[in-house]
Amino acid sequence: MGNVQRKNRIYLSPPHISGLEDQYIKEAIETNWISSVGKNIDCFEQQLKLKLNAPDVVAVSSGTAAIHLALRLLNVKDGDHVFCSSLTFIASCNPVIYQGATPIFIDSEYDSWCMSPEALEAAFENAKKNNKLPKAVIVVDLYGQVAKMNEIQAICDYYSVPIIEDAAEALGSSYGDKLAGTFGQFGIISFNGNKIITTSGGGALICQNGHEGEKVRFLASQAKDPALYYEHSQIGYNYRMSNILAGIGRGQLEVLEDRINRRRRIFETYVEELSTIPGLYFMPELEKSKSNRWLTALTVNEEITKINALELVQILANENIEARPVWKPMHLQPVFKNIPYFQHKDTDVSRHLFETGICLPSGSNLTEDDQLRVIETIKKAIRYQISIA
Ligand SMILES: *Cc1c(COP(=O)(O)O)cnc(C)c1O
Repeated sequence: MGNVQRKNRIYLSPPHISGLEDQYIKEAIETNWISSVGKNIDCFEQQLKLKLNAPDVVAVSSGTAAIHLALRLLNVKDGDHVFCSSLTFIASCNPVIYQGATPIFIDSEYDSWCMSPEALEAAFENAKKNNKLPKAVIVVDLYGQVAKMNEIQAICDYYSVPIIEDAAEALGSSYGDKLAGTFGQFGIISFNGNKIITTSGGGALICQNGHEGEKVRFLASQAKDPALYYEHSQIGYNYRMSNILAGIGRGQLEVLEDRINRRRRIFETYVEELSTIPGLYFMPELEKSKSNRWLTALTVNEEITKINALELVQILANENIEARPVWKPMHLQPVFKNIPYFQHKDTDVSRHLFETGICLPSGSNLTEDDQLRVIETIKKAIRYQISIA
């Protein structure tokens, strides 16, 4: 362990600058458009719109802000219910609480690790019985994998409840001929520093009804009525993206395909090197879908490997390698105790994925040598545990 200090730190998913950002940032500064309007914002939104083939895309200050705005547009308020994937980062459902509404958590299924259509159906049947349908369903595309959107959409259409697709982790992923973020009435993307591309911090709201974009821009800039003086007839937010950060976004968007290819390659290398070890199972990819493989995730069967996911995270940490457990599901969070949860048939899938899952360093700037170091550390740890068991 004495050599820990000498080994460089390997991060889970650090930012990856393309070198194209400078020119756009510089232009913003030189033209003095450094606030919340300007050419970078207009171009960034336009390019996202083209890329996603969406009627409108609004650049905002975070993915969380984008979810909050979507809930406002759908008129989610005090006392309302909103269904949400349980296996996710808390940002998916925090805005439900901001609106005074109650989230109801839906389990995952094993094919995609995303929302289980069966659990969703059970939640809807229960809601119908209680005469309290949700105002919206937040479906998360986990680690870049698009959920079983065809089935989920059919269920939500049947009950006439809109979908907010949380594609924070899934920019560039696809399912059938559509891209992540374009399935729901609203979709959201995050450009946080750890995501597949970044604006340092930021997000986008994808609108399927073009006219909603203007309402979103209005609410995201303090809901100023069209008067010369400051007049407000609604409460808004300060949620717009800065023109400087949109410049970073433009430089990042140009290399999105490279970033996806690299992350997919990293995933394949882990599979080639580690899937021969009994007891390790990689996150699957749905048929007809293409994940951006934002993070390489796998589960560990402790009975076979003699080591569990948390121990593996710790062993990697001892080697100065940042790995993480799979998201702790929302229905297991102390802050959400007593909130209803619908599991997948008779199995709590998201709990099982959490208890056995691990995410490995997956940044598009991960070097081959560094990935080998991760792989060797895992191989050695499991070999050792089996030898002493
Ligand atoms: C990162 C993330 C968000 C939040 O995005 P921010 O830009 O950090 O606010 C929301 N949902 C999921 C699933 C995420 O991974």
